[in-house]
Amino acid sequence: MRIVLLGPPGAGKGTQAESIVKKYGVLHLSTGDMLRAAAQADTEIGRKIKQTMASGALVSDRLVIAAVVERISQDDARKGFILDGFPRTVSQAVTFDDVLHTEHLELDHVVELQVDEKVLLGRILIRVNEAKERGIAQRADDNQDSLKVRLDAYRAQTAPVIDYYRARGVLKSVDGLQQIERVTADIFKAIDTAASPKVAMRR
Ligand code: AMP
Repeated sequence: MRIVLLGPPGAGKGTQAESIVKKYGVLHLSTGDMLRAAAQADTEIGRKIKQTMASGALVSDRLVIAAVVERISQDDARKGFILDGFPRTVSQAVTFDDVLHTEHLELDHVVELQVDEKVLLGRILIRVNEAKERGIAQRADDNQDSLKVRLDAYRAQTAPVIDYYRARGVLKSVDGLQQIERVTADIFKAIDTAASPKVAMRR
């Protein structure tokens, strides 16, 4: 099963992706996590990724697509995956469709977590405080300035991805403002709905 989980920063994609992994046994692929790992490298590209991520802006499509394509070609992704944080631009979505098409694969579900933007800042601040309390290193982009850039990037570059999948009739939207367990239940319902159409390949 191949699933794409979309939603703005702080919508709870990571938490919900973990529940999906437990229930459906798919691999959790977070491009944010992949890029944070790549940013550790003491190389020019590593430093550039780190800088871009800390600012809250998006890393280049070329780089992210290459990382995703490489990752999904590995054996452990064969039985399926949930993509969390990808595609983040229409260009990524279109290229990803082409890649899947070439591999004779298709997406089974595209689920959007809908969260009012005003709530997001509060959620991220809670995450920052929890990380502080537990002595966990904080994300370099969990601060007011970067968050503004992340929300702007979401509005300008990622919201059109939702329209892209909606226009193709494959988008399932879930109210992400409910209790975590309710959101999870709604996602499972969306996934288990038998009539769920597969994402048609772009020709
Ligand atoms: P996330 O952990 O999903 O919130 O992502 C953290 C940061 O990683 C984002 O603000 C971007 O800088 C970068 N990033 C993650 N996924 C993508 C993507 N699909 N395209 C471009 N940049 C990404």
